[in-house]
Amino acid sequence: MVAALVLSVIPASAQSDEPQLAPAIGPWLGAPRGWISSLQAIDGGIELEAVLADRDSAAPIDYEIVVDDVVVASGLSPRPGGVGAPITLAAPVTLDPGLHDVCLRLNDRRFGSRTVDCQRGTTAPPIKASEALRAGATGALVSPTGVVVPVTGGTQGDWTVTTPCGAPTRLTAGEFIPNARVVIDPGHGGSESGAAGPGILEKNLNLDVSERLQAELESLGISSVITRTADYRVPIRTRADIATALAPDVFISVHHNGGARRPSSRPGTEVFYAIGSTESERLARIMYEDMVDALDDFNVSWVSTVNEGASVRLREDGMDLYGIHRFSPGVNSIITEFVYLSNPSEASLMKQSGMAQFEAEVIVDALLRWWWTDDQGSSRGRQFTDSSSTGTGGFDGCDDPPLTGSRSLTTPTREDALASALVDPPEPVSLIPALYLGTEPDSGLPDN
Ligand SMILES: [Zn+2]
Repeated sequence: MVAALVLSVIPASAQSDEPQLAPAIGPWLGAPRGWISSLQAIDGGIELEAVLADRDSAAPIDYEIVVDDVVVASGLSPRPGGVGAPITLAAPVTLDPGLHDVCLRLNDRRFGSRTVDCQRGTTAPPIKASEALRAGATGALVSPTGVVVPVTGGTQGDWTVTTPCGAPTRLTAGEFIPNARVVIDPGHGGSESGAAGPGILEKNLNLDVSERLQAELESLGISSVITRTADYRVPIRTRADIATALAPDVFISVHHNGGARRPSSRPGTEVFYAIGSTESERLARIMYEDMVDALDDFNVSWVSTVNEGASVRLREDGMDLYGIHRFSPGVNSIITEFVYLSNPSEASLMKQSGMAQFEAEVIVDALLRWWWTDDQGSSRGRQFTDSSSTGTGGFDGCDDPPLTGSRSLTTPTREDALASALVDPPEPVSLIPALYLGTEPDSGLPDN
């Protein structure tokens, strides 16, 4: 019953922290428990939420918040709920711009002092989108059925938008999103399946990884929008229009590859960037390096082509081959091809539970390295001209999903609906005044 009690008050964002839900065992049986439920990036710091619980005592819990090995806050929790009722702490913590290790430590006279959870948090990353791009942002709308469309004009209650298949239309309802730090593009969808391997379709894996990537960014407090929210077709032009309308730091198109047969001693990962975009190129190099480093630990019979690496792929006329880049000028954009699904060994790796989440976390780590360092990443890759095209991603034969109506295309499963009915998080108790931690107010890094 304890698990149900705990679930009923954890903020929805913390539900992925499942290992923390296990009761304290071994020498810690009966000890107070706690975990960090979210670390949201804010300008000049991090907004922290932590959950504390004690199954065996209604006494206040003695806690400390430790950032980069320095105690920045401590106190005794109030115990409004009595034995077994978790409470949520919330506090803004002022920090130098950058990445930080944030830990929750509990001190207990029976069990001593122990660190119960550590997570990496980031302050709001430096903006990489150009002023011109941001000035031209028109925003996107999430339609009542959950479809994301670029806004071209109008106002609240009377939006002019473009449907996924490229038709102008008006929408009177929906959630307006003015901009986003990251636009995530799950490749393919609907009748366009992309690459395929034994028991796995690229379009489904792309969406799974993209949704996990969005959740990871959300847990860090970094805004993102996803261009395809269910299994329907979205031509490339519309994906790029959504990105341009949201003026993100980066537009990342998530793909998995097909076709290679050449055996390779290392992963054949490919990342493509927009020609002439220094920041796209730097991110692609970092992304390629991080992806290959992460995959290299697995015992897999890899395949590759000469295109492995972080590359630019051009048409005969010198323009980017991929519409993701060509149709979103001025946007930092990359396309990731993590592994080859057409290779049974790599397909079976990606079918293992946890691999989509693993890939999403690799992508987030690379994004954080791009935002916060000047690293240049791997130099593997090249510029090449290749007029071949898959012939997909256009408007021909495109059928729009319903934009209005009561049925959401992204309707949660019955289990999800039940779980969310159980979750009724209490208002967080603000215990800690804003704290300043750091050496100098001006570290030389941008404020945002
Ligand atoms: Zn693809």
